[in-house]
Amino acid sequence: MILVKLKDYNTKDTIAAIATFTSKSALGVIKISGKNALNIIHKIFTPRRRKDIRKAKTYTLHYGWIAEKSKSKNKKSKIIDEVLVSIMRKPSSYTCEDVVEVSCHGGTVALNKILEVILKQGARLARPGEFTYRAFLNGRIDLLQAEGIKTIVDAKTDKALQTAVSQLKGESFEKFNEVKKAVKEVFLSTEADINFPEDSTTVKVKNVKNKIKKISAAIKAIQDADNESKIIKEGLVCVICGKTNAGKSTLFNTLLQEERVIVSEIPGTTRDAIEETINIRGIPLRIYDTAGILTPENFIEKKALEKSSKVFNEADLIMLVLDGSRHLEKDDLFLLNKIRNLRDRKGSGAECAKSVIIIINKSDLTQKLNLKNISQHKGVKVKLSALKKEGIEDLEKAIVKAAASFCGKREDLIFLNKYQSEILKSAYNDILGAQVYLNENREIDLVNLSLKNALDNLGRLTGEVFCEELLESIFNDFCIGK
Ligand code: GDP
Repeated sequence: MILVKLKDYNTKDTIAAIATFTSKSALGVIKISGKNALNIIHKIFTPRRRKDIRKAKTYTLHYGWIAEKSKSKNKKSKIIDEVLVSIMRKPSSYTCEDVVEVSCHGGTVALNKILEVILKQGARLARPGEFTYRAFLNGRIDLLQAEGIKTIVDAKTDKALQTAVSQLKGESFEKFNEVKKAVKEVFLSTEADINFPEDSTTVKVKNVKNKIKKISAAIKAIQDADNESKIIKEGLVCVICGKTNAGKSTLFNTLLQEERVIVSEIPGTTRDAIEETINIRGIPLRIYDTAGILTPENFIEKKALEKSSKVFNEADLIMLVLDGSRHLEKDDLFLLNKIRNLRDRKGSGAECAKSVIIIINKSDLTQKLNLKNISQHKGVKVKLSALKKEGIEDLEKAIVKAAASFCGKREDLIFLNKYQSEILKSAYNDILGAQVYLNENREIDLVNLSLKNALDNLGRLTGEVFCEELLESIFNDFCIGK
């Protein structure tokens, strides 16, 4: 991934980029944005009606040819492609600047050649997300809408697309704004208390307490909407674990054969151990096959264990594979207890919502595993033979059920990137801090400070408070041309 610093996004330049795939395709689009966009197109485009394209009205379409001017005066210009040029004048364009889009024939050569002549005329190649960044700077979209746009581009399922579109309409921003307004109101009332302490009454404190309680619930609801959307956007993270020889790899392969693999690797995600993604009823299921090492004996095994432990902790769904043809062993018990501890752990979001499927594998062999010994462990139990591919359907049903428990309940999902989620978490902690101070009857200054921090954090999310790292985290993840 190209990492761009915010200072590289010089907003005075006119920028250009190919907005479509450069592979073999019917059409290709090149975008130009900035104060020189119309002048640049004027120099390289010959409209069929021979009019001055610089004077064209906004939202108009022009047929003609893009040509490269010859260096010698006597020679005719060389036509590169037959194109349609769209004109969108400021401020009613994607970036709020003058925007020109050139639709040409698809394919690498035509697109690159046209881009080359545009750049020769003084445009600069746009950086990732730079068009959207300008839309944000010029006040056309907020940061949540920017994240929504990115998700539309990346959407892998209908639900992800639907959610991203509603975010683009500004609905998520409204939610944040409402919370921010509520925090501001309480903040100002505590401000008054600091300035005029003699006016403080217990009635007022109770009032503030109630309001803060409502605010924390509202932020929690946004966090839940964010957590749930991650599953729709990124997929349900599912880990297969079990002692060595339980049949994990066999099961993993069987599952991949049964289901159509949609992606083999998701680049740019933090989960570097991803193995395969399969699509179950529109929900991407990201399956990790963990190393069966439980007691590492060397450095490499230690690293493998660390990696699988990380995935284990992050997983939404854990599939524990037991060997039905053997009695429960030390390693099985170790994993069963580890899963129990994870489920019992208090946490937020998906962490405490882990689903567990206990798979009793090798059902084709004489069964020695006593089911009573695992009855106290929570989780759906499925008997199957990964090798003979028997009982796989039951497992798939259990997976679908587990996935359904994570998705589809809410309509008001919100897509935040990791950085945005972190800031939201800080705002939540600020509010919880204010709540604790109030309950402990601490100085009102402390409550006031916590509320101020919460306001700052919420302001960062809505873009009111400038936060360079947040902006970079959003726009760096965009593709060039968006
Ligand atoms: P892992 O170490 O957990 O990944 O286990 P593997 O998938 O490599 O399987 C270990 C051994 O068990 C291999 O010889 C597999 O062929 C065998 N195995 C796996 N699943 C089954 C099954 O359902 N029935 C039988 N009979 N053998 C199995």
